[in-house]
Amino acid sequence: MKLVLFDLGQTLEDGDVLLPGALETLEAIDALRDGDRPAARLGLVSDFDMTNDPSQVPVIQQRYYALLDDLGIRRFFEPVAERVTLSTEVGVFKPDEAVFRAAVTRAVPGLEFRDVLFVTENRSHVLAARRLGLRAVHLRGPGQPDGEVDGLTDLIPLVRAFTEQDTGPAQTAVLTAPPGAEDAIPADVGITWTRLGDVLLVSGPSDPVQEVVAGTGLTTATSTSVPRGRLHLVTQIGRCFQQEHPDVPVVVDKGRYLVVDLDPEQAAALDGSPTGCFGVRPLPASEAVFEQRTVGRPAGAAPARLRTREHALSRAAFEADLATLVGFGTRHSTRPEFLAAVEWARGELTASGCATQLQTVPVGAGTSRNLIADRVGHGSDRQLVLVGAHLDSVNLAGGPAAAAPGADDNASGAAGVLAIGRALAEEAIAHDLRLILFGGEEQGLLGSLHYVAGLDPTERSRIRAVINMDMIAGRNTDTPTVLLEGAAVSQDVIDALAAAAQEQTDVAVQTSLNPFNSDHVPFLDQGIPAVLTIEGADGANDRVHTDRDRIEFLDHVLALEILRMNVSFLVQALSEDQWVTVR
Ligand SMILES: [Zn+2]
Repeated sequence: MKLVLFDLGQTLEDGDVLLPGALETLEAIDALRDGDRPAARLGLVSDFDMTNDPSQVPVIQQRYYALLDDLGIRRFFEPVAERVTLSTEVGVFKPDEAVFRAAVTRAVPGLEFRDVLFVTENRSHVLAARRLGLRAVHLRGPGQPDGEVDGLTDLIPLVRAFTEQDTGPAQTAVLTAPPGAEDAIPADVGITWTRLGDVLLVSGPSDPVQEVVAGTGLTTATSTSVPRGRLHLVTQIGRCFQQEHPDVPVVVDKGRYLVVDLDPEQAAALDGSPTGCFGVRPLPASEAVFEQRTVGRPAGAAPARLRTREHALSRAAFEADLATLVGFGTRHSTRPEFLAAVEWARGELTASGCATQLQTVPVGAGTSRNLIADRVGHGSDRQLVLVGAHLDSVNLAGGPAAAAPGADDNASGAAGVLAIGRALAEEAIAHDLRLILFGGEEQGLLGSLHYVAGLDPTERSRIRAVINMDMIAGRNTDTPTVLLEGAAVSQDVIDALAAAAQEQTDVAVQTSLNPFNSDHVPFLDQGIPAVLTIEGADGANDRVHTDRDRIEFLDHVLALEILRMNVSFLVQALSEDQWVTVR
């Protein structure tokens, strides 16, 4: 079975009038047979009126269906609930992948994108659809100078050939490929790619996949026949997805990120685990889940001018703080030990010249705290730079009172906040600095959600950057690596941090615009430029959230490198009108 998806406006109709050949073309496609079955289903995928009010969706749908009635083409798209997909229903416009995915799932559940032909007069949508792995045709629309086909009836032989084409078995090749290798993949052969660091997945009909693999000259490919529609991206903390679902086959293992083989319905059911420690979604097409950005300084090169008081970033003090934090036994959000840790950290931040306050955070039937520490800058038009980490720890198997040392998760980040407070204590700053130790993170980001919800609009608009540290000391890769994870809104901060890492440290940098489940997410959800700095492959660590997350497994050198990067960035962000971005 194949699916032919039409755009409506300017493709089949213009100004509520059918375009020449529309009826004839739809009838011809409808009549195509594969044996005694239809060779293709017809569908519509349209950008239409958007609404934030769910009760308005049926009203808008009826308006669209009435238009199909008036045009006399509704019969080709029955049942409309399955064959017609509107941006209104999905909440985003074409060419967002979600719109095409919804259209295909409704019309022919389980169909691969490569078995879908999309027809539109919108050239950029054609290109975007091809990047997602659909076949697409650019029809010359009203007033357009050209197209791949000039008129609707020219589509008939093309669709016939498409329905007769045996696309062969699906194949996904897994390549170790240098950055940019994906640029050489032709756009119109039904192939999609996804990059995870140095790994490139190339999916599609097996013949073109093999041609692409041959074309790259990369011989270290493994291969799977799992259809693209079953490939899903898992983002996990520690190894928690694999611990909860050891039976799910893993196609690519990059620690924090996995590509797994799952039935789409099963995947949707698994997303949003009760423990919140992993997420599952369809493998995104034609994008990098994360990129390997830089590999530190060239060997032997001296670090650039240190922007900070290097001596103030003390390894001894960092180690002592880690030991103190782990020494509380547990820092479970609602336990007295957590409050004791807060009081101790409050003393340390006060000693670094900060004014502190506590915020009470509801956690289930109990409460936790956010510890907020401020230093006011000396500038006149001051913005605010936030540095945060969660102070709480958890032992998922053991309950609130069980031992939860949380050395990597997240004494490392919390001790990092104290270290940054000390390192900047003598630094003249123009902008305001706010250090925050969050509670309730392990219960669902409750501290950071509470903090963000309580921001008044003026204060929110003053925030120029948020740096979140979570698990910065558990080294799980050969090359010491930091992952900078944010969203489009934090791209400048990511770039500046990456530049700082390259200038000041020997760590390799990975970047990702797929934020997941730490205290940076509530900020990003409000459009605030936040970035998580985390060790590069935290998913390789199976000790988090257990009584085995202990200091002996930590790499203090790595943590100090990540802190050096952050301090270097902060000195810039706190003192300068703008920071330099390098892309
Ligand atoms: Zn954490």
